[in-house]
Amino acid sequence: MPLLARTVTAPLAVEVHAGAVRHLGELLADRRISAGGEVAVVVGPGIGKEAAEQARESLARAEVLTIDAGTHGGALELATKLRSRNFDAVVGIGGGRVIDTVKYAAFRQGLPMVSVATSLANDGIASPTASLDRDGHSISYGAQIPIAVIVDLDFVRRAPARQLSSGVGDALSNLCATADWQLSHTETGEPIDGLAIAMSRGGAESVLRHPGSVGDDTFLATLANALVLGGTAMAVAGTSLPASGACHEIAHAIQERHPTVATHGEQVGMGALFATYLRGDEQLFREMAHAMKRHHLPRIPSDMGLTVDQFAVAVAYAPKTRPGRYTILEHLSLDVSDLRDRITEFCDELS
Ligand SMILES: [Zn+2]
Repeated sequence: MPLLARTVTAPLAVEVHAGAVRHLGELLADRRISAGGEVAVVVGPGIGKEAAEQARESLARAEVLTIDAGTHGGALELATKLRSRNFDAVVGIGGGRVIDTVKYAAFRQGLPMVSVATSLANDGIASPTASLDRDGHSISYGAQIPIAVIVDLDFVRRAPARQLSSGVGDALSNLCATADWQLSHTETGEPIDGLAIAMSRGGAESVLRHPGSVGDDTFLATLANALVLGGTAMAVAGTSLPASGACHEIAHAIQERHPTVATHGEQVGMGALFATYLRGDEQLFREMAHAMKRHHLPRIPSDMGLTVDQFAVAVAYAPKTRPGRYTILEHLSLDVSDLRDRITEFCDELS
């Protein structure tokens, strides 16, 4: 009999609800990730400590470790600490920087990683990649997808609104990433994966059309699901293409030149909106612009303190941040002067 389906790498468990952290021990036992609770629980500063205390209620044998999150060096230091005992798994509790650091350290040690998100700033909560600082640059490292993804809405709803709207920007950017992937397929013959596109695009469209805000739980759950789908789509496809296109090239270029102006989600959101404008997809452009306004996301360069010129220079440089990738930017191959004109029209359109 022919093999009619494929096997995909995906988390064993995905739980998005209030109170998830208190029952972490039961979840790890039920899913046979850790029968006796021999796990390392890793937290960063801030809300992670409170979450670790709640996790301890069902994980008495856990060892709690605190880390300096977000750097490659910090991840290697953590990997060394994880050698001190025979852990069944590593649980990372916190925001994106903690999750990425723990994900990479666990990958280096060959241990399963449980991702417990206390914020929803980007799709790293369920992706097979980790963004870490090394020698002043943010580098994206390959890692294993988390074995379980827990989003506890009791914590997430207390996260700063700007972090949550950044997550909206990262989720919406998948509409741009998948359009770029389809363009690359048509123009260069790049292999495409319809399942990964369905996951990534489906999640992003739910966020796009949800009438709620980061202040309500049904919207936060929709956002969490979209970020999980975007992250998992990368593992399904074996590439970051379902969640990274011109939007992310533009964000990397802004990040390199103007590292403090905006969060990752804000940069990719504006990058996605501009790329959608360049693509001439008017309906999606209107819908994205409307959603971004509702979620208080920057839409034009001045919203994040950049001039038209600075943005034009960044967008012209953007394709160099991901050589070999084909997006609407490589397709149109606009120079700084063309870009200046298109950006001015784009800003007029939105004002
Ligand atoms: Zn992203």
